[in-house]
Order: sequence, then C-alpha cells, then structure tokens
Amino acid sequence: MLDSLEIPVILLLVISTNEKSMHKQKLLKVQNRALVLNSIRQHGPISRVDVARRTGLSVGAVTALTRELVENGLIYEKQEGDSRGGRPPILLALQPEGAYVVGAKLTEYHITFALTNLDADVIGRLTLENPSVEPEAVAQRVADGIHRLVADSHIQRSRLMGVGIGMAGIVDADSGVCLASPILHWENVPFADLVEQRTILPVYLDNDVNTLTLVEKLYGAGVGSNHFLTITVGRGIGLGIVVNGQLYRGMGGAGEFGHTVIDPQGYTCDCGKRGCLETFVGDPWLLRRAAEHALHFNTIDELWQAAQNGQPQMIQLIQQAGASLGYGIAMLVNILNPQLLIFSGEGMRYGEMLLQPMREALYANAMSALSSGLKLHTEPLGDDAWARGAASLVLQELFRTSQRDLDTVTGM
Ligand SMILES: [Zn+2]
Repeated sequence: MLDSLEIPVILLLVISTNEKSMHKQKLLKVQNRALVLNSIRQHGPISRVDVARRTGLSVGAVTALTRELVENGLIYEKQEGDSRGGRPPILLALQPEGAYVVGAKLTEYHITFALTNLDADVIGRLTLENPSVEPEAVAQRVADGIHRLVADSHIQRSRLMGVGIGMAGIVDADSGVCLASPILHWENVPFADLVEQRTILPVYLDNDVNTLTLVEKLYGAGVGSNHFLTITVGRGIGLGIVVNGQLYRGMGGAGEFGHTVIDPQGYTCDCGKRGCLETFVGDPWLLRRAAEHALHFNTIDELWQAAQNGQPQMIQLIQQAGASLGYGIAMLVNILNPQLLIFSGEGMRYGEMLLQPMREALYANAMSALSSGLKLHTEPLGDDAWARGAASLVLQELFRTSQRDLDTVTGM
C-alpha cells in the first residue's frame, strides 16, 4: 500500500518553506535555494558564475547550494558550452526527472489526474469517475488515483513531491479550504487536509482558473509577463489575474468575472443576480438561448455543429457571446491595464466565430491608450491542461522566491 513513512528530502524542502517557526537563517537558505533553482530552470544550462550574477548571491554561496541540489538529483552538471580553447565550462541544468508532482482537477463527475516532471511535462494520466461529491469520498478517490498513477508510471514514490488540486469555486489557497463550490455543493471544506491525511504528501488546493494561470506564468505564454489575464470560456467564464508577477487572489475569490452584471434586466443567473456575463457566453446559457429559437440541442457540441453547418441563428448566438465577452474584457483592460490576455477553455472551439466579435467589442470599448499595445494569445485547451495546471501549484512551491522577487534581482 502507500509507503507513507518514506518522506523524501525534496519533500522536506517544500514542507520547510511553510514552517512558520523556522529559524530566519534557515528560511533565507530555503529562499536562496529556490532562487538558484529558479534561475537554473529559467536560464539553464548556465554556469555557476552566471547563476551568481543573476541572483545576486556570491559564487561561494551558489557553489554550496548547487552541490546540495546536485546531490538531491534536482539539477545536473553538463560539460559543454563555448570553451574558447580552455577547459569547457561546467554548466548546470534542471534535471526534469529529479522529482514529480501530481495534479488533479475536480469536477462533479470526474477527477482528471496528470503526473508531471519538473518541466511540467505530463508523463502519466488517469481519469476516474466521481461516484459521490461527498468530500471524504472525493478525497479518498483522489488518494486512490495518486496511488494508481504512481504505480502505473513506475516512478519511485519517494520522488513524488506533492499534489496540486484545482477546482471551480472560491478557495482559500493558503489554508487549502474550499470556501464555496456551487458545482460540488461544498462550503468550508478543508479539502487539502482531507487528501493530506490519506496520502502523507503536501497538498495544495486552488481555484482551477488560477492553476491554469499559474502554468501559463511558469511554462506558457505568460513567461516573462508581469501583468496578464487568463480568461477561460466554457461552462462558465473564468479569470486568472497576474499583477506585478504575482497571482492576485483578493480575499480568495478574485476573478469572478463571469458574474459581473452587464444587463440588469437579463436572465437570473445561478448566482442569483440578473444578466451576468456568463448568461451570454456560458455553455448552458447558449443551449437555453438556442431553445428560445425552438432549436433544441442536447449538448454544446451539437449546437456548435449546427453553427458550423451554417445555421444562422446559432452563428449569431456565438457572435453575440463574443461581443458580450469583449465588452466585459474592455472593462478589465481599463481597470488592470494588462500587457497580455490569454484565452483558454473549451469555448476556444468556436475560434474566430467568437474571437473576432470579441476583439471588435474589446477595442471599441477599452481606452485606446490601454488597448493599443495589448497582446492577445489563444491557447487551445488540451486534455491535460487543467490537471497540468493543478500540478504547477506544487512546482510553484519549489521555485517560489517569496521575499526576493527574482525579476527584480535579475533585472529581467
Ligand atoms: Zn451570476
């Protein structure tokens, strides 16, 4: 069964960053180690001297820290590079297979798992049915899934660093408590604890759109961007906000963009308000609006097929959804002045039918001084995206440099 007593060194690295009582010097060491590791992740293969230059640490400190990281198997030495006649410099690179993390995305019907390495490459995947939404039962299901995934992937369990879980709803990421999830009907569920008790692994819980945003920031289109928004379109509308290089969570519920009211006379939304943005764009609402034209579809895929076949009312419905979305995003652009918008989610299936009216409404309604330099990026949502995003919750812990912003230090 679970070899729970085997707690790896790398796992302790992560746990120790959360220990409030830790001695200040020890804390500094953990942060410097994260700083070095992050520098190697972003710029490797890289020499020790260059790591020192980028991090502001002394070469001696970098040498001591990298020795430890090599021993733990998180980085390795590469002897290559521009030697200019002398001995080739020894470069350091991240060892992607040095550790693994599991990401899990919860929905009311399924739990999707991905096992990734340190580069967030998916090396194992699994989907389990969710027979019950009762929290203890779901936690047990997650624990069972992790056990199966590790066994099927033939990795050493001691190399598993932690578990990240993404879910729709309002989550207090610091405490791992789901404050409210209308989909799962949860309120104040300490879900990270429930999974931790069953796996003896550090467990991180966050809103699923935040996890997608995080994976974009660490590995995707958001790399190098300090101010960007991830907007997901699908069953609902999600928003992940990165401000000053940090994910912005507010009091835990920031990003409920789908429930901003754009038509106070509109339909009553699931949240109880009228005319939320979601009621113009979300899948269940498109189906409902289609039904008003006496066009009944069982699934959103059927509706999309009709639009692709040239059904004019369905095309118009999707175009209206795009325009409503663009109108809402114009407000975000005016308020937050981001440099980049990343679009993701199942709704990207509509392509230009949704995106073109979205762009038109966005540029027509946002202040041109704020929208003229804006970059737009569309991310087709692969099957692994959500679970991979959840996995990045754990990877972020490993690379986190809380007191010293790496970008400031390196001047990047
Ligand atoms: Zn609403």
